[in-house]
Amino acid sequence: MKMKRVISAILCAVMIFGCTASTATAAKKDNIPAFEWDGNPVIFIQGYSGPILIRDRGLETEEEVWGINAGDLIKKLIPNLYGIVSSLAKYADGDPQPFIEQFREISAELIDDISMMPDGSSKYNIVSFPCVVEEASIAYIREELKGKGTPFFQDDFIDAMAQTVPEEYIYVFNTDWRRSQIDNSAHLAEFIDSVLEETGADKVDIFSMSHGGQLTATYLYYYGTQAKVDNAVLNSPATGGTTLVTELLGAEPINFNMEELLRFACVMLNIELDLRWLGRLLPGEFLNSLVKTAFNEVLLPHAIYFGSVWDFMDIETYTRLRDVYLDPVENADIIEKADKLHYDCMANIGEGLRRAQAAGVNIHIISNYGTQLGTGKKIDSDFIINTTHTCGANASVYGETLGKDYVQKNTVCKDSSHDHVAPTGTVDASSCYLPENTWFVYEQYHTQTWYDPYTRCLILELLLTDNIADVHSDSRYPQFELSQNPLDGVYARFTDSKTGEYGALSDEMLIKSLTDNYSLNILSVKINGVEQDTDEKLVIRRNGEITVPCKIPEGADRLKVEIRYERKNDILSNPFVRTIYFECKD
Ligand SMILES: [Zn+2]
Repeated sequence: MKMKRVISAILCAVMIFGCTASTATAAKKDNIPAFEWDGNPVIFIQGYSGPILIRDRGLETEEEVWGINAGDLIKKLIPNLYGIVSSLAKYADGDPQPFIEQFREISAELIDDISMMPDGSSKYNIVSFPCVVEEASIAYIREELKGKGTPFFQDDFIDAMAQTVPEEYIYVFNTDWRRSQIDNSAHLAEFIDSVLEETGADKVDIFSMSHGGQLTATYLYYYGTQAKVDNAVLNSPATGGTTLVTELLGAEPINFNMEELLRFACVMLNIELDLRWLGRLLPGEFLNSLVKTAFNEVLLPHAIYFGSVWDFMDIETYTRLRDVYLDPVENADIIEKADKLHYDCMANIGEGLRRAQAAGVNIHIISNYGTQLGTGKKIDSDFIINTTHTCGANASVYGETLGKDYVQKNTVCKDSSHDHVAPTGTVDASSCYLPENTWFVYEQYHTQTWYDPYTRCLILELLLTDNIADVHSDSRYPQFELSQNPLDGVYARFTDSKTGEYGALSDEMLIKSLTDNYSLNILSVKINGVEQDTDEKLVIRRNGEITVPCKIPEGADRLKVEIRYERKNDILSNPFVRTIYFECKD
């Protein structure tokens, strides 16, 4: 049913978890590292709502009830345009009812199809697809299923993995993402056994993102000591939940910043459009109110029967809302699993991951920081998930630092000679679940790694090799780095011309262009507010780099470098400023 696919596309756009970069331009193959394959099959676990769901599989009534196909969106919206526009006009005049009815009407069939019962089980006979191991390899998906079942927007990343691992050995794990992670992790345990049996391998590698990262963490908590996993990479995992879901479902208003939202969309789609002007034109308050109304009025009564929705809440929020929305008798099964996930797994996840690590699983976490949570709360995040909830780090209130006199916590890493505080002074990784195996990428949006050559290479090497033991072992991959997506424009670092050592301050700064679509005019470079003497007109060619002389202020703890630049021949674009922080070490 086209209509349902369209509505699911709309819902998915709203439920943005795990939606990642498109295939607008394929990453250049020669930039993608290939390694010697160690023989481990790779299991790819996608983000929330990624897997296709099929009702009555194998029966005459078989039907796809969930799948993301954004291409149908416009076809659906056009015939309904009149009703949509008129309900929006009434909403703007203060009458939300027609909009609620319109949204309820177009989403009713889809919502019914994927409904869950008060005990957390599916209303209909539904399975994820492709589900069994025989049909879950990328080779099978591409050859026999014509690509159906490929993780949403992930072709390029799979191609990158396939430079090392044969497509027959790259598997996609699809599970019923509506359920509790307690159920999903048991499903994953079975799937891993099937892959090992099918391939004859001893261990698998796992790559997971977002909700899939939470699933991997849950699996490692309950099954990690079986040591059937060699490398597990968790990219922006929702390990401790995300405040965003509670914000969408709760009574408080939300405040999505439209400029930021559009930028997030452009990074996702890998297009270098500067849409800040459009963000300022959009009626943010109106759109925020609309999203909130749709969630509260139409989706909330159904969402509370999804085990996964509860899994997205941190322990405290879960405890509070459970008693508001769930009935101890009617919803006892949902509560039992959600209690287990929160009070057993989530509450002790650090210990659980370290137990798996001790049993031989190499666990690596990619976390992002430096972006305000999408819904407007002053929470350090990757726009979708709280930085703290991905990895256990101690993060300051968004927009503030941990403080001038802050002392590293050393609650998990006990080695006070390690410096686990970010150059921004906003994140302390010493309290992480895995302080030595968590990498932070500044200003990187949720799971948007594929068009960022830095994180793409880091993830591939962590996943496919044992080259990088921890954050101390490879100077190319320090614990804290910057996002290097083309839309980030410029990258800067100090380079010791003698040693090339990362982060060593010197009187020369390297500024690199991250785009191959534009040359950049560097308009000014400021360090701690002081404009640097860059007297000539600085131009960086596409993907090129320059060095500029700079004066390091004496006695500073931290440098705030502001690079103001414009894109040449880009009539839509105004100047940008990228702000980068450096720590001054003695
Ligand atoms: Zn440490």
